[in-house]
Amino acid sequence: MPVRIDPWGAAVPKDYVRLMREFGIEPFEGLLAQIPEPHYLMRRRVIFGHRDFGRVLGAMLKMEKFAVMTGLMPSGRMHVGHKLVIDQLAWYQRRGADIYLCVADLEAYSARGVSFEESKKLAAEEYLANYQALGLDIGRCHVYFQSRSDAVRHLAFILSKKVNFSEMSAIYGFAGESNISHIFYPMIDVADILHPQLEEFGGPRPTVVPVGVDQDPHLRLARDVAARFQRGFGFVLPSSTYHRLLPGLTGEKMSSSKPETAIFLTDSTDEIKKKIKDAFTGGRPTAAEQRKHGGAPDKCRVYELYVYQLMPDDKKLLDLREACKSGAIICGDCKLRAIELMAEFLKVHQAKRERAEAKAKKLVEKVY
Ligand code: SF4
Repeated sequence: MPVRIDPWGAAVPKDYVRLMREFGIEPFEGLLAQIPEPHYLMRRRVIFGHRDFGRVLGAMLKMEKFAVMTGLMPSGRMHVGHKLVIDQLAWYQRRGADIYLCVADLEAYSARGVSFEESKKLAAEEYLANYQALGLDIGRCHVYFQSRSDAVRHLAFILSKKVNFSEMSAIYGFAGESNISHIFYPMIDVADILHPQLEEFGGPRPTVVPVGVDQDPHLRLARDVAARFQRGFGFVLPSSTYHRLLPGLTGEKMSSSKPETAIFLTDSTDEIKKKIKDAFTGGRPTAAEQRKHGGAPDKCRVYELYVYQLMPDDKKLLDLREACKSGAIICGDCKLRAIELMAEFLKVHQAKRERAEAKAKKLVEKVY
């Protein structure tokens, strides 16, 4: 039975190896040795797969032009899971990438009924201000709104000529009651990914889209469409990298609509305390048992926070892992340490975010 990846956000994929085999995603590990100072998410195998990343890496190493494309759907609050992509963008920006940041306000309207005015406000105050505070220089990114970009909408229409309804239905599962904005939207998404390669945006060049594996169907469609239009546009097939999704604190998928599953970038220290204290761990029923048999970090949501966010030093992370497995540390103490580190990080971040808000608001007024 094939594994279905749902780009609209249903399930957390469990078997990444199987997904990679089924969809032809290459293991990222093989490229690590060639990457100077790889991102910590690469080193820690959080970024586990890729398609054609070698050509982006080649451009990066030769100091040639390459682009990075990502989108934000302004529909809720940012949590630490969203931070994964921004960390990667900042890393690429330091390596000379043209960063394209799409505000997916057409998607927010189509999928969630968010008005364009609300999208604009959320994009500035909730997303772009946070991006700037997380180390991405938004002033040096190509930020645009789907609803304002004639180039993207025009390209979507041109490209849709070679995509038929059966193909879209097979990928997205459309049915009779699907509304037309939902059916057409994936073509906007394809145009988002390919438009940096139009002549007026710098022409064909390697482009990478860093995504969670649930977004792979969009990427496969974009690559197929790029191949069909290579003649005429000269598109270089877009590359992609795949990261694991940060699992929710309670054991289910991290989600903005379930506050107990996620640490939001705006959470107070009391909220952080409560969420981490209630988090699902890989600990034993009693402290005595844990000291004797050790814990299971790979099942633990608190450990995931250390991996993704709280412990940038690899050596310290490995020490923590060993201490957990040997029973040298128990969950209560480990959670207290996580609470402290998270509260410290968010205190600094929230002050930076406040300072970045004016820049973000100004930016959304002038971008295309
Ligand atoms: Fe998780 Fe820490 Fe408990 Fe180990 S000791 S299971 S890492 S909370």
